[in-house]
Amino acid sequence: MTFTFSGISTPSNSSDSKHVKVLVLGSGPAGLTAALYAARAELEPVVLTGIELGGQAALTHTIENYPGFPDGVGGSELGELFQKQAERFGAKVEFDTANTVDLSQRPFQVGTDNGQYLADTLIVATGARPNHLEIPGEVELTGKGVSYCATCDGWFFKEKKVVVVGGGDSALEEALFLTRFATSVTIIHRRDNLRAGKVLQNRALSNPKINFIWNSIVTQVVGSDKVTSLKLKDTLDSTESMLPVDGLFIFIGHTPNTQMFKGQLDMDELGYIHANHLMETNIPGVFVAGEVADSHFRQVITSAGMGASAAIQVTHFLEKELVSA
Ligand code: NAP
Repeated sequence: MTFTFSGISTPSNSSDSKHVKVLVLGSGPAGLTAALYAARAELEPVVLTGIELGGQAALTHTIENYPGFPDGVGGSELGELFQKQAERFGAKVEFDTANTVDLSQRPFQVGTDNGQYLADTLIVATGARPNHLEIPGEVELTGKGVSYCATCDGWFFKEKKVVVVGGGDSALEEALFLTRFATSVTIIHRRDNLRAGKVLQNRALSNPKINFIWNSIVTQVVGSDKVTSLKLKDTLDSTESMLPVDGLFIFIGHTPNTQMFKGQLDMDELGYIHANHLMETNIPGVFVAGEVADSHFRQVITSAGMGASAAIQVTHFLEKELVSA
């Protein structure tokens, strides 16, 4: 089935814009699954990848809980498989990033690094980014020992001592990965109870290379051209101490990439976009998928599921419009 949209007016300043039926923002599991479903509905979706193809999942060394891969699958490999499958049915994946959106009228206008799109419908799957500790030395020493991605930077810490901050699944998963390279991995957690699931907890607690510092926070990263030590503070008695280390990996949760939608799409106080179970936002024609609208599950499988749902709803939305045109 092919759709045409005679009812949508094209803005006068749009001569250089590419007009598409479905524009997907983001190329994580949500965006690429949405593209797969939209492509199979012959909607010729265009995906703007954002900075990284595959989103955050691509930065995960091994994904062990995505069904169909009993031995696990590399995060970037899974992203490439998603892309290949979507492209097989006609999705176009552009290495480009959206910077501005105007959702005040249809087609929606989206400004990118490389140009401008007019989109009859939009699937927002821009994901989230890692939170920072916001302590002295963190910004200055990022890339010089401070990292938010063990898969990307773990190799640089062969035979070195590293610290991981956080007590969630990401922190433990990445700490376990870092034991491949580092001589020791110290997990610093602000409480004495881990947030991570039991399987990861058991693995981390029984790994001889991993040790824990409980009830503590990092208050300063010390070093000039590379990290040499961390200043720690005990959260119970406020005593301070120094810990010599070579690297600091921070995994303390995420912030959704929704800045450009502020004032246009309804969102909660943390910036997660409000959507109903049909992936609809407050603006007809704008749908969401993945972590951008999900502060709770944040799994590859749930994001992919939301992507499929969003694309199915986009198809219904455009079909209805076609019937009533
Ligand atoms: P998370 O579950 O929100 O955990 C963040 C951790 O960082 C918590 O332990 C939190 O401490 C700590 N933290 C937050 N702010 C801090 C600060 N300013 N200073 C020190 N510590 C701070 O985040 P996540 O681990 O990235 O996981 C996000 C979601 O993805 C979760 O739903 C998780 O289940 C999922 N995930 C799943 C897998 C998997 O299934 N294999 C892998 C990765 C992520 P408190 O505990 O005290 O709040």
